[in-house]
Amino acid sequence: TATDGLLSREKSRYRDRTTDSAEMADELRELVPAGVCSTFRAYDPHPVHADRAEGTYLFDVDGNRYVDFALNNGAQLVGHAHPRLTDEITEQVQRGTLYTRPNELLEAAARPLIERWEAIQQVRFTNSGTESVMHASRLARAYTGCEKLIRMEGAYHGAHDPALVSKMPPLEAVGPADDPNPVRESKGVPADAEDQLLLAQYNDADSVERLLRDHGDEVAAILVEPACLNLGLVEPESGFLHRLRELADEHDVLLVFDEVKTGVKLAPGGGAEYYGVQPDLVALAKAIGGGYPVGAFGGRREIMQLIADDLEDGTATGAAHYGTYNGNPLALRAVSVTLSEILTDDAYERIDDLSERLAAGYRGIIEDVGLEAHVRRAGSQGMVYFTDERISTFRDWSRIDEEFHEAYWLGMVNRGVFPHPHDASQQWTVSVQHDADDVDAHLEAFADLATDLAA
Ligand code: PMP
Repeated sequence: TATDGLLSREKSRYRDRTTDSAEMADELRELVPAGVCSTFRAYDPHPVHADRAEGTYLFDVDGNRYVDFALNNGAQLVGHAHPRLTDEITEQVQRGTLYTRPNELLEAAARPLIERWEAIQQVRFTNSGTESVMHASRLARAYTGCEKLIRMEGAYHGAHDPALVSKMPPLEAVGPADDPNPVRESKGVPADAEDQLLLAQYNDADSVERLLRDHGDEVAAILVEPACLNLGLVEPESGFLHRLRELADEHDVLLVFDEVKTGVKLAPGGGAEYYGVQPDLVALAKAIGGGYPVGAFGGRREIMQLIADDLEDGTATGAAHYGTYNGNPLALRAVSVTLSEILTDDAYERIDDLSERLAAGYRGIIEDVGLEAHVRRAGSQGMVYFTDERISTFRDWSRIDEEFHEAYWLGMVNRGVFPHPHDASQQWTVSVQHDADDVDAHLEAFADLATDLAA
């Protein structure tokens, strides 16, 4: 097909531009499975291997420079090596990198999260999104005394066992939409991980209501990303999140927002603020730390206090939360500087303007060349889908032409732009360090590529 031709042309151009990456990949694959430390990063024929990153640019080992809108799966709303953050962290390194003792940085990091989320009255820090979701899930179970979570089919919530059930399952395996099969996505995930879940469809509140009607007394929480940022950018249809809030209240279950990706990126107070719905618990990570490894989970005092209750005696009166690196001073300082000093109201305004400039630019080019495509944007995040169909659920998303999307992605990379991480599950992030020139460079690359895509 035409896509095959375009994709293979772009692949061979990519190979020519990244010969040092290829060589490094061969060496690393001997030492490290697939040559990467998170399996998502593997790419055929090989990923671009990084030399350094600075501001809005990533430089690879072949000496290519990329304008970076991928920003490490959106973890860097502050861009790379933000000078303010680099100075503060360098100073902190000299004051000690780990105390395992409470210190004033804990207050400086906790306060901005509590200020940004109405739902967060207390917060605990972790080291990753996986940990944040895992602990929020345990806490929901501890609070309600129930074991099951209602989750949306195809959602990604981290790498712990139950989160790997029906995380982007193949369509051949999923069964009917109103009664989906749980699909374990990795060997080694125990079969009983499936028992912890009830699967609903995003943007279908009736599917959640049915599960609550039939299994309400076993359900601890509804766990949902306010917008699906692991399906590109799928937003809640009008009323969907509000209905989940009502259903949670009617059935005495908790509403847990996984804001690992949406948090501080759609709005200062994440998806909760952007869509005007407050959950009971929030899981956070990524952008709150400005590119340093950190996560957090928080919520209503009454629920969070169960963690304090764990001290009472050894008989599980509360909920456990432990970790050597939890709340380490580097992570806390990164959170406090990022949220209080870098991501100011002005910064959000600038980011929003630039992200809209990018979205509007894409729309103009798509119309000019007559491409079958549409753009979605929310705050700093945005995405182009190469279809005219509206995408509202995981199953809609699964019908995207992956090869066509890859041809777009590679074409952009070959033109010096990372539009987003390497597949259609991802989206752009406009950072505080991007400027109009970066956005225009992104659009110029797309304009150049778009005629090939339309051909
Ligand atoms: N939840 C969501 C919505 C995510 O997108 C991710 C990571 N992409 C996680 C949880 C897991 O976060 P981490 O990679 O920091 O463990």
